[in-house]
Amino acid sequence: MSKLVVFSPDHATARRRFREAVLRLGWSLESHSIGAVGPDGEELAFDVGCSREGDPEKVLVVSSGVHGVEGFFGSAVQVALLEQWASSSPPPIQCVFLHGLNPFGFAWLRRFDEHNVDPNRNFLLAGEAFEGVDEGYARHDAFLNPRRPPARWEPFTLKALWLIARYGMPALRQAVAGGQYRYPRGLFFGGAGPSRMQKLLGENLPRWLKGSQRVVHLDFHTGLGPWGGCKLLIDYPLKERQRGWLTEWFGADSFEACESRDISYDAKGGFGRWCVSRGLAPEYLFACAEFGTYGPVQVLAGLRAENQAHHWGSPVAASTLRAKARLKELFCPASEAWRSQVIERSLELVGRAQRGLLAADPGGIEPVLPKSSG
Ligand SMILES: [Zn+2]
Repeated sequence: MSKLVVFSPDHATARRRFREAVLRLGWSLESHSIGAVGPDGEELAFDVGCSREGDPEKVLVVSSGVHGVEGFFGSAVQVALLEQWASSSPPPIQCVFLHGLNPFGFAWLRRFDEHNVDPNRNFLLAGEAFEGVDEGYARHDAFLNPRRPPARWEPFTLKALWLIARYGMPALRQAVAGGQYRYPRGLFFGGAGPSRMQKLLGENLPRWLKGSQRVVHLDFHTGLGPWGGCKLLIDYPLKERQRGWLTEWFGADSFEACESRDISYDAKGGFGRWCVSRGLAPEYLFACAEFGTYGPVQVLAGLRAENQAHHWGSPVAASTLRAKARLKELFCPASEAWRSQVIERSLELVGRAQRGLLAADPGGIEPVLPKSSG
């Protein structure tokens, strides 16, 4: 099978292919409507495929499209896995595939959902408030979120480079992309309350993971890091044994924990931290599998232009269509070399997770590594 045919040209095609591949394997399939429509008036929903056989105590969760447009890549990974398993056989563990979790963003070519919420800033824990903004973000709100459609030429890059020179890339990235709860039409808005996606997942995850003892959850993303590279990002404090598994299964350089940020930033409201905090299984190892595309200034310029077009432009204006097509390219490059490389790496990553799950001690709750004293 060519690695390239698994990429779909639009959300409706991605859904159809995912659903067909799930049914071909004899898995159960369900859909959850989000109460919004796509560009052709179609009802938008995310799909969930669950294997029926395999050890229910060991569960592999693969999710895609939390950030809408990034679903073009994540969906391709899921379809590639399902097709691979249809021609060989699925792993002897329970599999739960969450496809296109933010169908609005996927269908309308945006990162954010139907309420302009960044889902990965929305998963707040009990006691956390949907409020606050980094003062660096607030200071540059007018630059980040212009109240007008995008122009053909925006002096974005110059200003962005000046800001990077002034504040440094890590500080700027943290301020801008760390999430904000003040500007509902702005970039990286975390919402005013739990999103539909969060509610649907909160209601259904206990059922999908029923009987699980150990869950490994890979959530596929793009847009951070070097071209075609992959990093597992962890947004919650790792226990020693979780660190041990990550090191043993994927390699010591494969992951970045939240206390040692290199390419990413700390954000409140992450999907991973929320999943591991819910007591869904005695062991829940979550990693955001992040694949690099273009550089951070280009990606931010693309997000900004699409957000301008979405809120302040006409849906049929050439500038809107251009901004959305550009965003798709930024998060799922058309390059055959990139596509082939990321699919190969993703299959390898899932293979490692699967072997790790199978090899891990079924008792599972004792520390693998000795705890350091003090
Ligand atoms: Zn993402």
